[in-house]
Amino acid sequence: MAPPMSATDFLNALKDEGLSVVQVGDWRTHNRNGQGAWGPVHGVMIHHTVTKGTAATVQLCKDGHAALPGPLCHGVIAKDGTVHLVGYGRANHAGLGDGDVLDAVIAEKRLPPVGVADTDGNRAFYGFECENLGDGEDPWPAAQLAAIEKAAAAVCRHHGWAAGSVIGHLEWQPGKIDPKGFTMDVMRGRVRDRLK
Ligand SMILES: [Zn+2]
Repeated sequence: MAPPMSATDFLNALKDEGLSVVQVGDWRTHNRNGQGAWGPVHGVMIHHTVTKGTAATVQLCKDGHAALPGPLCHGVIAKDGTVHLVGYGRANHAGLGDGDVLDAVIAEKRLPPVGVADTDGNRAFYGFECENLGDGEDPWPAAQLAAIEKAAAAVCRHHGWAAGSVIGHLEWQPGKIDPKGFTMDVMRGRVRDRLK
């Protein structure tokens, strides 16, 4: 548990981890804070976008759509590994998820199977949307996977969290499949190694 870091600290944490970062529009103040809480924060959530093309993907994650206003995450991780910051604060990415999973994230223990959607995740998780069609066939380039590892590690490093604070959307909310194409256990292993 921790208060969220400032937008500037978030930007610097990503840069210090060696990431290439693009700041999109008014990302520092683009959020859903008027609709609910942001913080205390407990972890980092990884998603795939089901989109193709970085420009369109970044635009969608910034603006959202009629049924779900943006921002839809904090950072968009493109195929080339660049991180595009589209919002900061409460964002529409995690939705309602399983309170038992949140308890496990807080304890940094093995996650239980996701069962119910009873807990607000948008207050508790930093969110990264990764450009991928999510069909299990669209490749995940090495540069993109490395950027996911670095982005998650950057947030963990700032807060003093271990890799157990990094989860996939599919581990949070019943019915979700993202990210598809790599396993979160493998990604957590990479984050663990990076944080050593
Ligand atoms: Zn998702």
